[in-house]
Amino acid sequence: MPMAGIYGPKDLGGSLAVHPAQPAPQSRQQQAHGREFAMPSLEWTPEVERATAHLYERVKNVISPVEWPLMAPYIKAINELKVTRNAVILAHNYQTPEIFHCVADIAGDSLQLAIEATKVKSDIIIQCGVHFMAETSKILNPNKTVLIPDSRAGCSLAASITGADVRLLRERFPGVPVVAYVNTSADVKAEVDICCTSSNAVQVVESLNVPTVIFLPDQYLARYVASQTKVKIIAWKGACEVHERFTGDELRAYREADPSVQIIAHPECPPDVLAEADFTGSTAHMINWVRNKHPKRVVMITECSMADNVQAELPDVEMVRPCNLCPHMKRITLAKILDSLVYLREEVVIDPVIAEKARRSVERMINLKN
Ligand code: SF4
Repeated sequence: MPMAGIYGPKDLGGSLAVHPAQPAPQSRQQQAHGREFAMPSLEWTPEVERATAHLYERVKNVISPVEWPLMAPYIKAINELKVTRNAVILAHNYQTPEIFHCVADIAGDSLQLAIEATKVKSDIIIQCGVHFMAETSKILNPNKTVLIPDSRAGCSLAASITGADVRLLRERFPGVPVVAYVNTSADVKAEVDICCTSSNAVQVVESLNVPTVIFLPDQYLARYVASQTKVKIIAWKGACEVHERFTGDELRAYREADPSVQIIAHPECPPDVLAEADFTGSTAHMINWVRNKHPKRVVMITECSMADNVQAELPDVEMVRPCNLCPHMKRITLAKILDSLVYLREEVVIDPVIAEKARRSVERMINLKN
């Protein structure tokens, strides 16, 4: 079904809302969890080497022996301190291999992390991802301390729209339900009817049993959903700055260089990119596709670190890596994760009224999944 329209702030008469490039810094909460811990030693010693040898086995295909002595002391310190702190580390698929494979307790896409966040028993959640993901964890765990190692880790999609914009859209299209991709702030989630991820977007849209929905903020995911359903889609002019950079020409060049190569793409990519791909799916669906099909060579058209993480798991699959990095995801580093554990920073705080309304939208999606 072709899209029924696409809107941005200027099309709504100009929202007065501020579109922050980055989320605001949050406060600390050392008092709630006792004293600050001393920074552990970060020397590369035989003991560190022994204690982390099993972890290096997981990543040796993607992290060189020269790099490992710089990472291993942080990894050992983080893994010890998270036990002392009763903390759990959640990591998105776009985190680098030393985080994804060596310190994360739970790793996955936005939907997996959102669901797992509801089952967490630890006092502290450390979100290795971007700010909207940490907010989602806080929304689902209002009584826990949620920390993000760098609160400047934003997202071009989340920054493209505010709660005020959603209210203007509702005025323009009265009675039309609003579906928000999880890549939105708590403020936006509080104004919509239900959330979705790229894994379940079509299912969520169709679950509403209406002829038309407003789908925001990713215009390309909206186009992809429109191509998969008979429901009319009114979209927002947001885009992921990482996936938007891929082009159809780039994919054709990969195929011309090797006609046997498999190309799989994320639905946040523009339509001419998806038209060239052998498979389109969310990060979780892309990973499962590679695990199940086990292609000889594959190009993953998504954020670069995911190919490294899959390569670590499947060394015999050759990854062709178009390296589009997400600068926001890359703000999360081992050093900042350790700082988070030592100093309990940076805490994610959400107005309880907004959090309560946002929770309804996220839980409606999760309940649909279950
Ligand atoms: S990859 Fe794109 S959608 Fe994901 S956090 Fe980065 S900017 Fe946002």
